[in-house]
Amino acid sequence: MGAIVAIVGRPNVGKSTFFNRLIQRREAIVDEVSGVTRDRHYGKSDWNGKEFSVIDTGGYVVGSEDVFEKEIDKQVELAIDEADAIIFMVDVESGVTGMDEEVAKLLRRVNKPVFLAVNKVDNAQRAADAVEFYSLGLGDYYTISSINGSGSGELLDALVQVLPETEEEEAELPRFAVVGRPNAGKSSFINALIGEERYIVTDIAGTTRDSIDTKYNRFGFEFNLVDTAGIRRKAKVKEDLEFYSVMRSVRAIEHCDICLLLLDATRGFDGQVQNIFWLAQRNNKGIVVLVNKWDLVEKETNSVRDYEKKIREQMEPFTDVPILFISVLNKQRIFKAIETAVEVYKNRSKKIVTRKLNDVMLPIIEQTPPPAYKGKFVKIKFCTQLPTPYPQFAFFCNLPQYVREPYKRFLENKLRENFDFTGVPITIFMRKK
Ligand code: GDP
Ligand code: GDP
Repeated sequence: MGAIVAIVGRPNVGKSTFFNRLIQRREAIVDEVSGVTRDRHYGKSDWNGKEFSVIDTGGYVVGSEDVFEKEIDKQVELAIDEADAIIFMVDVESGVTGMDEEVAKLLRRVNKPVFLAVNKVDNAQRAADAVEFYSLGLGDYYTISSINGSGSGELLDALVQVLPETEEEEAELPRFAVVGRPNAGKSSFINALIGEERYIVTDIAGTTRDSIDTKYNRFGFEFNLVDTAGIRRKAKVKEDLEFYSVMRSVRAIEHCDICLLLLDATRGFDGQVQNIFWLAQRNNKGIVVLVNKWDLVEKETNSVRDYEKKIREQMEPFTDVPILFISVLNKQRIFKAIETAVEVYKNRSKKIVTRKLNDVMLPIIEQTPPPAYKGKFVKIKFCTQLPTPYPQFAFFCNLPQYVREPYKRFLENKLRENFDFTGVPITIFMRKK
């Protein structure tokens, strides 16, 4: 499971600048917490080949000092609960502030690695000024400039050393995670699935206290359920609930093969659901969308078709995903949901023999070759599926850099048409040959 790093600190010290540097060209997902705080951001990063997720806990508050104080408490609490390591950012321009001292006080009690990053050290003079941050009682600090990037290498070297190893999961049983917004019906769904205790085979403690894998044997399938329970217990107020549940989803998603993305039919495929969908896709996980509480929707002749069409529009461009309309309450299509998840799991682990792949794809490519680019013609010679845990394909050609996105999408669509990859993201690489 990927490690999580949280960036905390008062507003304007440069957290989001640093965050953006960390995630580089990757996109962040934004958790729009209404009114109270600035958006929180999640993204992926890697250093020395080690991948981790980064959260910028945000924290811009329009209100008064004490509102802000409460906010920063929450921010730190979230980081303490959810992250494997914390970057505490301060600003050399302003020096140590009361708020920094507050945060430091909270962090001194934390039993997790804390990295004090003194930001805006854009030059040597400022490096000398940073010494005052020893007074925070957090020991050594790292001087960085989020704007020009200096110093961040040392910080990241130290950071990735303390992050837990991502153990390669043995490919044994499908790992399903039930994810979605609060109230979508996740707990009800899991309860309906597990029903009676006797279906539980064993409990395997997850790598963190928050994630428990439980092995089930139901409907003739064996699978591990990556549990996202325990959210309600922790969250005290509504926006925290939302945040915790997204956080928990982040973890669960990284830890699974297939996401069962549950949504409330009366609320639809909204921005937050889209975020979770996006996250699952970017992590190359299989996805099954379950539109729950279908019992609450007034049905007309084309309800399912229209509803499904709308969801697929939200999913663009990755639309080759099963969508089921279920009612956990009435136990409708719960079995079908698991059956579909197992199919998606099979699609995700599918390996197409190279010869078969070329027999199918080369004639298609011959008929519709990549368009000439800057007057150059691209010749694709052969292709192969890479030996990765999820489908990735390499197409070998003379000028890989001239193959543009639309053509890759064309290849992906042809792969999907000819080999069933429903529910599974596909990656296509163009390689030089
Ligand atoms: P946040 O509120 O902590 O997320 O802070 P931001 O990332 O929004 O940055 C606040 C301001 O500090 C912006 O104007 C940034 O351009 C500036 N800033 C961020 N990092 C640096 C840095 O390394 N050096 C300097 N000089 N300014 C910086
Ligand atoms: P979670 O926050 O995603 O775990 O959601 P819960 O499982 O706690 O469900 C939230 C609420 O939705 C509860 O009151 C459930 O009884 C209700 N609920 C769950 N599934 C269904 C369903 O299929 N139909 C209806 N009408 N209500 C449901």
